[in-house]
Amino acid sequence: MKKHLLTAALFIAFLLTATAVMAGQTKYVFFFLGDGMASSQIQATEAYLTTIHGGSATLAEDLLKPENRLNMSKMPVAGMQTTYDAHALMTDSASSATAFACGIKTLSGVIGMDENKTKSYKSIAQLAHESGKKVGIITSVSLDHATPAAYYASVSNRNNMNDIATQLANTGYEFFGGGGFVSPEGPARDGDTSNNIWALLSANGYEVRNTRNAILDLKENPRDKVVCINPVLPDSSAMPYDIDRINHYPSNLSLAEMTETAIANLYNKKGKGFFIMVEGGKIDWACHANDAMATIGDMLDFDNAVGAALAFYEDHPKDTLIVVTGDHETGGMSIGHATTAYKAYYDKLLAQNSSFQYFSDNQWAAHKTEWEENTCPNVSSANNLASNSEMLDLMMDVFGLDYDTLNDYQKEKLEDAYDKSLCGTNDNTDAENMLLYGYYNPIVVTITHILNEQASVGWTSYSHTGVPVPIFAQGKGKIAQLFSGFYDNTDIAKKMADAMNLPDLPVEK
Ligand SMILES: [Zn+2]
Repeated sequence: MKKHLLTAALFIAFLLTATAVMAGQTKYVFFFLGDGMASSQIQATEAYLTTIHGGSATLAEDLLKPENRLNMSKMPVAGMQTTYDAHALMTDSASSATAFACGIKTLSGVIGMDENKTKSYKSIAQLAHESGKKVGIITSVSLDHATPAAYYASVSNRNNMNDIATQLANTGYEFFGGGGFVSPEGPARDGDTSNNIWALLSANGYEVRNTRNAILDLKENPRDKVVCINPVLPDSSAMPYDIDRINHYPSNLSLAEMTETAIANLYNKKGKGFFIMVEGGKIDWACHANDAMATIGDMLDFDNAVGAALAFYEDHPKDTLIVVTGDHETGGMSIGHATTAYKAYYDKLLAQNSSFQYFSDNQWAAHKTEWEENTCPNVSSANNLASNSEMLDLMMDVFGLDYDTLNDYQKEKLEDAYDKSLCGTNDNTDAENMLLYGYYNPIVVTITHILNEQASVGWTSYSHTGVPVPIFAQGKGKIAQLFSGFYDNTDIAKKMADAMNLPDLPVEK
């Protein structure tokens, strides 16, 4: 009898150990976060890929071809997550990142703290670091932005960016890469700290690199602690939109190159592995502005970064987990529009060569300087835009929008927007202007609205929306399977912790 009991006990002990090993043995873990990315952003990008590869976005046999699919949507495990935060159906990136970094619901604007802003929590990156893994944090926006911050900082207000950067410099994480810092030499707002982040990074043993060659050199000559900042940071200390990187800033790194660099820098066969978080942060910004091509460009760059992880997976299939998701949808992007019904015309998007941001800051800014003095005294004229061949040429050159082919309604909308952008006024009510433009440059957002609608892409918001978001995973069988099903965004952190054999979440600091 005793012998049987002993055998049973041994068997149970074996089972428990096997379960722990199964859940905890993932050595290399990637978390990819497309900010503002949900099903529409994925489907629009695949329809675009189908079109540039010579197929038709209205034919299933073309849409289904492997070369027209994103890496993420071909991954073997898929799930769905709800994105609301503690007090909002439409979350922001601070509370959503807190959910999948720390496993708790909180308020929009809060990072790594509870909704009462009293308790601080450790992220899975911090816990992974404590367990001996190396940590890499990569983003296409600034390194102190909400999503990356949730992996290393706890702050009651996401705008305390000097405080966030201070906490970054004190992490000891091995790799940071992407944009720069919003307020590296002092407070951006009242209530923030006032540290010199460059001095703090240096004192803590970090090397800062900001040229293409110096960053790529890390692949061959890794460093213990490094901060990689892109050479060109055109807006809010972020990397350029990928459409602009390709056409205007070729010396800049792509998110995929930054990810490859992080992998090579952090990989060590003998160590305990790594945790790498990669954020495609400007998918969200492009969707806020309702610019489909800027969105698609950053979706492709983000998916290429996923490809870099998949290439690593091919060499380490038993030890790697890759998880890809979004934090919320942005812009209310739709696949289909009232004016195109069941047709799709993605070829309409192919000629756009600059993001809304680049156009606004460059060609539009120059046009405004040249024309406002002569035009604005006659702002009530009905044909300020129609009679300005320079502006009509600009719309054609930058967006491929052919004014002569537009209907009278579209021309009227452009005329109103042109007057508002050039002269600050038009004959719409304020409520109408708010609906048409939000807080964006009226002429630019009207151009992208018309262009996108022609392609069959619609927008309903300049903010985040509340639809559930897909999640994809690839890794060794049972660990990747953790991510199938329909669950809450806080469960992502718990599943990631499980996959790395970290303590149960949430863990208070
Ligand atoms: Zn956003």
